[in-house]
Amino acid sequence: MKPHKQIKDWGLGLTTPLIIAGPCSAETPEQIEQICKEMKEENMVPQLFRAGIWKPRTRPGSFEGVGEEGLKWMEIVRHHLNIPITTEVGNASHVELALKHKVDVLWIGARTTVNPFAVQEIAEALRGVDIPVMIKNPMNPDLELWMGALERMYAVGIEKLAAIHRGFSDAYDKRFRNKPNWSMPIHLKRQWTGMEVINDPSHIVGRRDGLLEVAQSAMNFGLDGLMIETHHDPDKAWSDAKQQVTPARLKEMISSIDFKESLEAMKPDEKLQDLRRAVDHLDDQLLDILQERFAVIDQIGAHKREHHLSVFQSDRWKDVMESRTQKGVAKHLSEKFMKELLYCIHEESVKRQEKQLREGEALKK
Ligand code: PEP
Ligand code: MN
Repeated sequence: MKPHKQIKDWGLGLTTPLIIAGPCSAETPEQIEQICKEMKEENMVPQLFRAGIWKPRTRPGSFEGVGEEGLKWMEIVRHHLNIPITTEVGNASHVELALKHKVDVLWIGARTTVNPFAVQEIAEALRGVDIPVMIKNPMNPDLELWMGALERMYAVGIEKLAAIHRGFSDAYDKRFRNKPNWSMPIHLKRQWTGMEVINDPSHIVGRRDGLLEVAQSAMNFGLDGLMIETHHDPDKAWSDAKQQVTPARLKEMISSIDFKESLEAMKPDEKLQDLRRAVDHLDDQLLDILQERFAVIDQIGAHKREHHLSVFQSDRWKDVMESRTQKGVAKHLSEKFMKELLYCIHEESVKRQEKQLREGEALKK
């Protein structure tokens, strides 16, 4: 897959992180108008206005969106703010209606990204259409599923693609509505250089407090924009009332965020170049040590083979894990990191030795 185009190719003329704001759901024409007016009054006009028209609700019986009627109200946004509009599509008929009403950008929601049939249906409906599409991460932390949805769009000719990081549901950790798992969006950006990932703190946090912290983390991690649910009267919102903020609060938040310049866009200064050279050197040393360590592991493997010893010895493993973790923690490395690192090294050691044993057996035959 070739690298994706930059957001500037969307024709939005962006030189700064993309700010998307608007209500969770379009409710009434008056609601849309009031939000737009307040955005204008506050001088807090986002680059893209969001509003859900069809709402995928976990249980039936709650507000499921106003449907096609709401698409007509998007004219109000154009009239007051003159900015492009985005909405969620969950099937081919949503796509058809959104295109008919000239929605500028589409997004695919987390509950749809999990379903390749639905994503493919949407992709087919978009074949030959030139429209930007943003794909939210699936509910579960599965990077492949997220990438698969982006690939399905790309395969029908949609090149103006972006990803939205809205967190992942977690049965046990209730600090967030959806746990951020920052390694996921970072992995996505690493695998596909140039892929923009927009952070959606609203659905990650699920409450107004804490939004700023997550939004700041997203910028610190180098994500490319923010989608923040905004409503003139959040407590009375018909969906996601707890997490929406007023345009005034949105302005406050945006002005207090430290938008980091992307390192990729910036020419590294001398100090940074020096530090990077130091890291390169340390990495070389780390690799030399690993090479040496595995050479010793191979000798141990040969010895075990000779003496008919099994590869995995649980006492030794326990001892290695505990003692190294303790040493690492004393050196201010986190326990989680130490365990993951040791597990990874140990797994490779066991694999090498097991391969040696199998080769030895093959020789005997
Ligand atoms: C939304 O954006 O309002 C929404 C339903 O989001 P998600 O698909 O992330 O749950
Ligand atoms: Mn919502």
